[in-house]
Amino acid sequence: MKRLSVLILVFLLCFTIASSYSQAQEAISATCSTEAEFPTSLTFNLTAKSSANITRVILNYKIDKITTVTVISEVEPDFDIGKAVDTSWTWDMRMSSLPPGAEVQYRWRIEDASGHELKTEWKTVRFDDEHYSWKSLTEDEITLHWYKGDQSFAQELLDAAIDTLEKLTQYTGASLEKSVDIYIYASTSALRDALVYSQDWTGGVAFTEYGILAIGIETSNLTWGKRVTAHELTHLVTYQMTYNPYGDIPNWLNEGLSMYAEGELEMSFRLLLNEAISKDSLISVQSLSSSFPSDANEARLSYAQSYSIVEFLIDEYGREKMLNLLNVFKYGSTYDDALLTVYGFDTNGLDDAWRLSLGLEPRETSATPVPATTPKTGFLECNVISTKSSNSGLLWVGGLGILLLPAIGEMVRLKRRGKK
Ligand SMILES: [Zn+2]
Repeated sequence: MKRLSVLILVFLLCFTIASSYSQAQEAISATCSTEAEFPTSLTFNLTAKSSANITRVILNYKIDKITTVTVISEVEPDFDIGKAVDTSWTWDMRMSSLPPGAEVQYRWRIEDASGHELKTEWKTVRFDDEHYSWKSLTEDEITLHWYKGDQSFAQELLDAAIDTLEKLTQYTGASLEKSVDIYIYASTSALRDALVYSQDWTGGVAFTEYGILAIGIETSNLTWGKRVTAHELTHLVTYQMTYNPYGDIPNWLNEGLSMYAEGELEMSFRLLLNEAISKDSLISVQSLSSSFPSDANEARLSYAQSYSIVEFLIDEYGREKMLNLLNVFKYGSTYDDALLTVYGFDTNGLDDAWRLSLGLEPRETSATPVPATTPKTGFLECNVISTKSSNSGLLWVGGLGILLLPAIGEMVRLKRRGKK
């Protein structure tokens, strides 16, 4: 069904005093506005006047997200030279999308033939999904936005999020460094309508750089919703705890922490794990360091094993070492170096210690099972999408999804990892 277009018009008066000129008749004056058509575009409009011909117009914008270097993008929209100028520039989100609630700061620079220059003040526009009438609840660093269901529905989800943060702090020492916003869509299909990139299995997306979650949760499916919220919120915490420009963290740690934060391992995962232990067919920790296999059962086992590995590290070595591990990764350590620094063993050593705790012998190198990669099944898929925008630099959106009933999808940012 074709989405209804909703235009939001934000009208903001810009500064009207040209720098270094005090006489009003010589100054450049400007008004600017933005129009958002969520989720596909954001348009910046400018109307400017001057006593001399306006010869140059530049739009600068920057995105509020976790990064080591703030990138200020610059575009010069077309316009007809004259004393009065109307121009605009549209950011096509189909090239580099923004999540709901993402904030963009922008300003205009205008020059005229007499040497005047006007720089408007930085303004902030929030890329809201105006298809719905959002309500919100805030507690500590979490703001939960929802539009369907009563207050108790939202409160239960918010409580689950707060409980998750408390559990993470208690068992891993990890905590949020930046506040987060959680957008609860009324269904997974409503969520997918809000995403430029989505798959049939997408049920929740963690926009880790932005500190934003978007999840589709039906009011009748609260138990599932609380689990997904815990899982995805933990991805935000883990990302904030370990973000650095050099490298990422092993996938078993990233997913294992999120699975651990959900609570007890669900029975279907437990059965798969127990079967792999009894058959001595566990996937190696080394294999679980990178992307999980696309085969449904292998991927489910990967999640179950990740839970088990993280549980083993926390139970056996404690909270402080887990916190140390996250802190070491913050400095861009390689997987093996981080483990060696904190635990005194590398990835293979972890595999042996973990296997020993399960009553298994250390792995023989030649016997390391290689996860099967099979065609995507629709039940569970992984994908990575990358897009390049000439205006905002290289944007990577990583996708990794697991579908449980009725649908758990997640997209987790995967950073490029340099050779080490
Ligand atoms: Zn996950």
